[in-house]
Amino acid sequence: MIKRSFIGLFSPVLQYEELDTSKTVDSIKVTGAVTFFVDKKYSKKDSLLIKPGDKVKSGDIFSVFNDSEEMIISSVTGEISGIEAFSGNFGKEYTAVTVKTESGGNNVNKDFGKTLKKASKSSLNQIIKNFPGVVSDTVFVNPDKPVDSIVITGMDSDLLISNNKYIVKNRIKDIKAGIVFIEKMTGINSFITVVPESLAVVAQDIGVPVRVVELTYPLASPMLITQNIMGRKVTAGKTAEDSGVMVINAETVAAMGAASVKSEIPGSKIVTVIDKNGDTRLVSAIIGTPVNTVLSQLKIDVNEGDRVITGGPLTGTAVYSDSHPVLPDTEAIMVQDREDIPEILDNSCINCGECVRICPAKVPVNLLIRFLENGEYDEAADSYDLFSCIDCGLCAYVCQAQIPVFQYITLAKHEFTRNNTVEAENA
Ligand code: SF4
Ligand code: SF4
Repeated sequence: MIKRSFIGLFSPVLQYEELDTSKTVDSIKVTGAVTFFVDKKYSKKDSLLIKPGDKVKSGDIFSVFNDSEEMIISSVTGEISGIEAFSGNFGKEYTAVTVKTESGGNNVNKDFGKTLKKASKSSLNQIIKNFPGVVSDTVFVNPDKPVDSIVITGMDSDLLISNNKYIVKNRIKDIKAGIVFIEKMTGINSFITVVPESLAVVAQDIGVPVRVVELTYPLASPMLITQNIMGRKVTAGKTAEDSGVMVINAETVAAMGAASVKSEIPGSKIVTVIDKNGDTRLVSAIIGTPVNTVLSQLKIDVNEGDRVITGGPLTGTAVYSDSHPVLPDTEAIMVQDREDIPEILDNSCINCGECVRICPAKVPVNLLIRFLENGEYDEAADSYDLFSCIDCGLCAYVCQAQIPVFQYITLAKHEFTRNNTVEAENA
């Protein structure tokens, strides 16, 4: 939960951030090492395709495991210095690959663009997951979920963030090239761009239809864009892709364009950094850079008891170490002063109904929370619309009893999916 003064004290209507065009983007220098996460649990018994001491160049694409398609794009040139298990939030297991960077030189993979264009559809799925921006697990080449329309979003995922708006304002040519690339690789030729009113004129130059989204949170959620703008119904538990629509961040599309045309390596991420006062800055950080490197270069102190969050004010997640890396989907880094962290209280729901009134998905949150607190995830999913939730975080924001409702919901979705996957595998 967050300091409400960041985002409009008790305001009934929360607004996405407008782009402040007077702001510049600070480049964060990498010092030391970067870390990449692979979406597979690491075990020492695994057969690995890389080992400590191996050299990599910026733009090299490589697999880590013999028996997994997961790939990494190295954002730096250097030497692999570690491969180890990493436990993320909600018990999710990853493999962390650390690369010690080499100083000096300009040793990069100059054929990155060619490699990308020649990639098979299945490896393209894996490669694109490393591109900056939030890319769906299924990316856009998925025979089970045939997508016929692409929405390029110049909106951002949470309050105070303006990454995609910045990209629309400044990288029209790259976005256009990205559209050409996607069309060539997928055959999809139906594109629209969604932007706030303030960018509607600029976005015309992208050359595809432009639709304006109001700044009222959470209207820019991919689910709501799919329903409200594309007119496609997304049923509970399904994604926008199930309805044939892929919503892709402008940042990702621009990175695809720059990679395919200029062989530019998609190794940097635009990140909104939110300090303890709620002031924001945009930075460009090499993917894999430790969060503490970003904060120290911006001279933002993190003291004992402060909290570091990746993501925005309503949907971000606290990281337990500020050496956590900037990941391809790290949209924001937020530092919360220890004085502003709400006390963890063992409060019960007082049935005030605020969460129900604000929920855009009409989830009966006041009833749902009772099942989530008891770990009854099947009941929550079957009878109380757990999977209708669009992950906006508003219920936790308004909760009068300060129950971390959104965290309960996120945990429940994760546990429900994990339990059902295990059951299916054992069947
Ligand atoms: S996070 Fe809460 S308010 Fe938002 S859709 Fe889900 S249940 Fe509703
Ligand atoms: S806002 Fe909090 S206290 Fe009020 S009904 Fe919802 S969960 Fe219960």
